[in-house]
Amino acid sequence: MNGIPHIGVLAVQGDVREHRHALEAAGATTTTIRRPEEVAGIDGLVIPGGESTTMDKLVRAFGLQSSLREAIASGLPVYGSCAGMIMLADRIADARPDQETLGGLDITVRRNAFGRQVDSFEEDLHIRALGPQPVRAVFIRAPWVEDVGERVEVLARVESGQAAGRIVAVRQGSLLATSFHPEVTGDHRVHQLFVEIVRNRS
Ligand code: GLN
Repeated sequence: MNGIPHIGVLAVQGDVREHRHALEAAGATTTTIRRPEEVAGIDGLVIPGGESTTMDKLVRAFGLQSSLREAIASGLPVYGSCAGMIMLADRIADARPDQETLGGLDITVRRNAFGRQVDSFEEDLHIRALGPQPVRAVFIRAPWVEDVGERVEVLARVESGQAAGRIVAVRQGSLLATSFHPEVTGDHRVHQLFVEIVRNRS
């Protein structure tokens, strides 16, 4: 790496353009990832939100599953948002019978955890790793993290309402995941943190 991290955005589903924009604003160059051979050229990867069962099927259909799993196992930094968090999880509490993940993050996630009636909501979260200003977190049919392994650092929990205390942002080494969608708010601090993680690793 020549000092400027080159970050791929998995481009099978979701807010690909918004993630590229946020990463570029945070000082990275970006590319889309759709083919296995493209994985070798990147310093980090973002997995956008979407629908994790569909994303899993598309990742397998595009022949990407094994190259992404190998890259994660050899330490590629990855940031997963919402369905991307589910794709990074080692365990899903209520997976569809044939649903697989890429894995790497020692967490159990619960899909659509906030309840079907709560399609989406927003909340200010205080995330120490991102500074004193709260982060406006946008949740869209979001998962939460049901439990975490020893190596996982909890970055944020829901702060009010029935779901107060539920874990919604985690980090394990070079793997970062949020239940919410920072790419839609114009606040690039989550992407900045990820670009820092990529810089420090490379
Ligand atoms: N509910 C979706 C899933 O299970 C995630 C929603 C999202 O990414 N916005 O994959």
